Amino acid sequence: MDVEEFRVRGKEMVDYICTYMTTIRSRRVTPSVEPGYLRAALPSEAPEYPESWDDVMCDVENKIMPGVTHWQHPRFHAYFPSGNAYPSILGDMLSAGIGCIGFSWAASPACTELEIIILDWLGKAIGLPPAFLALEEGSKGGGVIEGSASECVLVSMLAARANGIKRLKHQFPTVDEGLLLTKLIAYCSKEAHSCVEKAAMISFVKMRILQPDENGSLRGETLKQAMEEDEEAGLVPFFVATTLGTTACCSFDNLTEIGPVVRKFPCVWLHVDAAYAGSAFLCPEHKYHLAGVEYADSFNTNPNKLMLTNFDCSLLWVTNRYLLTSALVVDPLYLQHCYDHTAIDYRHWGVPLSRRFRSLKLWFMLRSYGITGLQKYVRRHCELAKYFEQLVKKDERFEICNQVKLGLVCFRLLGGPEETPEQVDELNKKLLTNINASGKMHMVPASVRDRYVIRFCVVYQHASREDIEIAWDIITEFATELLEGPDK
Ligand code: PLP
Repeated sequence: MDVEEFRVRGKEMVDYICTYMTTIRSRRVTPSVEPGYLRAALPSEAPEYPESWDDVMCDVENKIMPGVTHWQHPRFHAYFPSGNAYPSILGDMLSAGIGCIGFSWAASPACTELEIIILDWLGKAIGLPPAFLALEEGSKGGGVIEGSASECVLVSMLAARANGIKRLKHQFPTVDEGLLLTKLIAYCSKEAHSCVEKAAMISFVKMRILQPDENGSLRGETLKQAMEEDEEAGLVPFFVATTLGTTACCSFDNLTEIGPVVRKFPCVWLHVDAAYAGSAFLCPEHKYHLAGVEYADSFNTNPNKLMLTNFDCSLLWVTNRYLLTSALVVDPLYLQHCYDHTAIDYRHWGVPLSRRFRSLKLWFMLRSYGITGLQKYVRRHCELAKYFEQLVKKDERFEICNQVKLGLVCFRLLGGPEETPEQVDELNKKLLTNINASGKMHMVPASVRDRYVIRFCVVYQHASREDIEIAWDIITEFATELLEGPDK
């Protein structure tokens, strides 16, 4: 493809995307294909000779699209929102067009500098303390864009681990580091995302998973008891992962209790995972959830969830960037440059070396929407969840299973008085299976207080009250069929 053809095809692609977006309602929200469907539709070898672009695009519509789950569909209510606003798509397009790999300041100064500035802008806008900002006078903090929240949690844990081992090595200089590693122990709540457990597996450290309270919130006393017990048993607490806005039910760990507990133990790193909820803190009325963040060493959020920005875009801030980078520095000659002692080199802030110009899309988003535009979106998202909650509450066959604080509502059929909890779980499983199999709407389940619940998340960017009503009609129709239909 030469530049003139790219000019034409690029415009056609934008048209294709626009048509996709404007006609998405006519598609099934989830595909009705079986595993291996694409293997049967595509050749077993790569093409020997070039093919026409028209043929490729024809296959996109006929072979790829039938296997796509349409996350931007108005009836998609699974997981969390997957932002995809047009300025962010254009930002990614420009990043691909520029094609620079900004692993160090010298490898593309604008790539590094825009990232530093945008992370400071957003850090301030969501209400992080100045210690997290890179350009604040005397601050050792700063932010970085990682590929995922899982990476943010992992690199925070790796930094905490290096810090913990360093401290122990100082105390026990003759003991092998491998042995010291066996003493380290991390903590999180049962409600934490599975990526926290995975980070501990990768970091090869022990992880103690704690029971939250009845609202899914990890409390200070629970953590304190666990840390004291472990310390008495000869272990060394080094990392506590908390969550603001958990995946299953959008609960919030109690940072104001947890922070002071963590501070009582030497060198324990406190991480806050706000992958979903972080963007809501752009709104003053949601900032109260951040109380206690001043105790944290690191904080992550995903604008690709609730800030309308497309994947991948996970933001991590730390209060001491030197602790982070000292855990991850490897410095071969070919990557060094004459400013590497004064400039930020993001290659030391994460696992991959190469990185795209991801701050462009955030810059485009912030300039196109302004903070007020993003706040408006968050507010509508939360209002619609409250509206859905009201509809559920009005129907006596259902119950609400979480405190609806942002855009996620967990609900379930109550079942009859003679039904066991297991039977009620089965009933709800059946309801969700039937709805999802219809392709009319998509939701996923979760376990809340060890019971099967259905998660309804407001996802569609332009969702209206009418969309929520349509969704509720689908749910109630399937519920009636299940409760009163011939199979009952
Ligand atoms: N943390 C929380 C609270 C999440 O909800 C999720 C995903 O939904 C993650 C972490 C993992 O995010 P990622 O896919 O960016 O690794």
